[in-house]
Parts: sequence; C-alpha cells; structure tokens
Amino acid sequence: MAEKIVMNAGGALEVPDDPIVPYIEGDGIGVDIWPAAQHVLDAAAARYDKHVSWQEVLAGEKAFRETGSWLPDETIAAFREYLIGIKGPLTTPVGGGFRSLNVAVRQILDLYVCLRPVRWFAGVPSPVRHPEKVDMVIFRENTEDVYAGFELAAGTPEAKRLIDFLHDEHGWDIRADSAIGIKPISETGSKRLVRAAISYAVSHGRRSVTLVHKGNIQKFTEGGFRNWGYEVARDEFADVAVSWDECGGDPGDKILVKDAIADITLQQVLTRPDEFDVIATMNLNGDYLSDALAAQVGGIGIAPGANINYVTGHGVFEATHGTAPKYAGQDKVNPGSLLLSGVLMFEHLGWAEPAADIVRALEATIADKIVTYDFARLMDGAREVRCSEFADAIVERL
Ligand code: NAD
Repeated sequence: MAEKIVMNAGGALEVPDDPIVPYIEGDGIGVDIWPAAQHVLDAAAARYDKHVSWQEVLAGEKAFRETGSWLPDETIAAFREYLIGIKGPLTTPVGGGFRSLNVAVRQILDLYVCLRPVRWFAGVPSPVRHPEKVDMVIFRENTEDVYAGFELAAGTPEAKRLIDFLHDEHGWDIRADSAIGIKPISETGSKRLVRAAISYAVSHGRRSVTLVHKGNIQKFTEGGFRNWGYEVARDEFADVAVSWDECGGDPGDKILVKDAIADITLQQVLTRPDEFDVIATMNLNGDYLSDALAAQVGGIGIAPGANINYVTGHGVFEATHGTAPKYAGQDKVNPGSLLLSGVLMFEHLGWAEPAADIVRALEATIADKIVTYDFARLMDGAREVRCSEFADAIVERL
C-alpha cells in the first residue's frame, strides 16, 4: 500500500517499500525524458520488491495550460507533504511573475543545499585524458550570495540613493553610473551548508571536505564562509573530522577539512582531480564549479542534481539541463540527467541496490555503444537510438 515518506524524531527519513513520490514531468523534452527515466527506475526498484507510487503534480507550461498558474499551490503542498519529489526541466515564464520556477521551488521550501555529484560513467566521451579520476560531490549553497536578487540598475534613483549613502556613511567612492549588487553571506547559511557537507562525507565514507572560497579578496563574505566552515568542523565534528591546520594534512582516519581559493580550485580540479572529494561552497562558485566539472566528465547532458533541506527532510531531485525546446516530443534526447537524478534520489532514500544496478546497466549500455544522438556524435562506431530505446536497453541490462 502506498505510504508517505516521513522524517522521524531523530531527523532521519523513514522510507516505506511503496513511497508516494510527487513528480513534475517538465516542459519541452520533459515528455520524452520523464517516461524513459521512470521506466528504468521502476524496473530497478521492482527487482527488490519496491515500488514507487508516482503522483503527478503540475508546474510550468502544462500547469499554466491546465490551471492558469505556472506553479499551483497544490504542487508546493504535495512537495511539502511527501517530502521527496523529482522534476524535469521547466521553462522560465517570461513575465510570469517568477524569476525562475526552479528558484521559486527552492526558495519556498528553503532547499538550502544544491547537491551535485560529479563522476565519470565508463564509456562516456570526455575531453580529458583521465575522467575516471573525477569523483566529487559539490555542496552548493542555494539561498544566498549574489543570487539573493538584491540588485539596482545603473542610473536609477534607487542606485543613486545607495551610492550616496555608501559615500556618506563609509566614505566609499562608487562611480555614479554604477549598477549595484548586494552579496549576503551569513553565518547561519554557511554553517548549515558546511554541516550538511561534513555529515554527507561521514555517512558516505568520503575522505575530505574542501571549503572553496575567494576569501583572499572578499574577506568578510567569502572569508567568513571559510572561517564559519572551520568552526563547524571544530565545534560539531571533532570526533570524526579534523582541519588541515590542526593535523598538518595528515588526518589519520578522520575526514580532512581543508580550504582552497576558488580560482586555484578551478585549475586543480583539472590538473589534480583526485585531491578533491566533497566540496562545500557558496552559490556563485558552486554554479561555476558544477558545470566546469560536469563538462570534464562529459556529463553536461547527464549530470544529476538535487535541492535538499536536511533539517526539514525536503528534497527535490532534478535534471540539471533545460527544456531543449527544439527537440521536444521527438523521442531523441538523452534521459541520463533525469534518470541519474532518480538514482541519486534512490540513494538518498537508502535504496542503494537498485541505484547501483542502474548505474551498472547504464555503463553496460554505453559500453555496448548504444547511445542517444548527443553521445553518438562523439563516439566511433556508436549505434544511435531514441530516448525510449536507450531506456529499454538499460532495462535489458539491469
Ligand atoms: P537547454 O539545456 O534546454 O538546452 C541547450 C542545448 O543542450 C539543447 O539545445 C541541446 O542541444 C542540449 N541538451 C539539453 N538537454 C539535453 C539532453 N537531455 N540530451 C541531449 N541534449 C540536451 O538550455 P537553454 O536552451 O538555455 O534553455 C531552454 C529553456 O530551459 C529555457 O526556458 C530555460 O529557462 C530553461 N532551463 C530550465 C532549467 C531547469 O529547469 N532546471 C535549467 C536550464 C534552463
């Protein structure tokens, strides 16, 4: 019987064998990739006597067509009630009152972690020689930084007022024709993000957590993030984690907590990828890093993602690419990003076996050179198949 996933008093998810999981099909290629991903997820779960009771909820164009609202209250209510959901890509409505539907969902549910695991799947075409050395998990802060949306356009009376205020109060000389943006980085936001990253490293047997920041220049915002991150390690995880300064780089069997400047990090994830494991960082750095790393493993089209609040238990797993409207409804594109987001969801729910089976079957399919067009054009001797056929081929190899 279908049941709700709940969070117990100890702050852990209790997952029945037949959980109710709301899903948003997604706009554009959502009609192609959602059925393909669902087919594989269901087949893998069934092998372990598990079943997901998918419950469709609406957002985006489909919601607007059927209800007149881009993001109906019922959709948010379902995500609230059932804790864990999954979504395809959504069109950003022009003039719909939202900056982005994705951002709206994250803000309403306060999903403060953007989780992006980045690893190579055997056979995937990659631009680097050793993509197999990349195995990182990015914890990107999702609620602060320049994404908070505090910006004033150049030449407006509001910008002028702020420029005058900053001059009078702080003696800051800012050019009169400047646009102004405010970048908030809080102790609360930083600490809960780093806490989630270290907890993840502990529960997943990871070796290190690197705090990535630009604190050499932005001392109080990015530097603050770094300092608060080390405080969390010291005050809350001393039994399982140790900072570089405290151990001189030799953590023993504890998790090493270190930090790195963002620009150097972007070099070193390329030249020394095996030195990075879990990465904790702020919103903008995390945005750059997620895509740069996904490209390194050839996975920009198959990179999975999730937005999570570990305190309330809410999580929305999602394809990381957009709606690719020119391919919509053609049964052509790669369902990998949404499928692997489903795998990430299974892992998050403690369904490790079906998750691992899907990854193995996906790798076997790619090893047999059965791929969608995006990979086919980068591989020699590949057989290009449709989105649905790719899913069928994975299911055959489960
Ligand atoms: P996009 O990711 O939709 O497409 C860019 C290109 O990437 C496509 O033309 C296609 O060549 C390729 N591509 C994307 N997904 C693919 C897949 N699964 N398989 C194979 N190839 C794939 O980016 P865009 O064109 O900048 O954005 C289109 C729409 O999507 C916009 O409305 C944008 O706001 C929205 N968007 C939504 C999300 C989201 O929901 N998370 C993310 C990004 C963009």
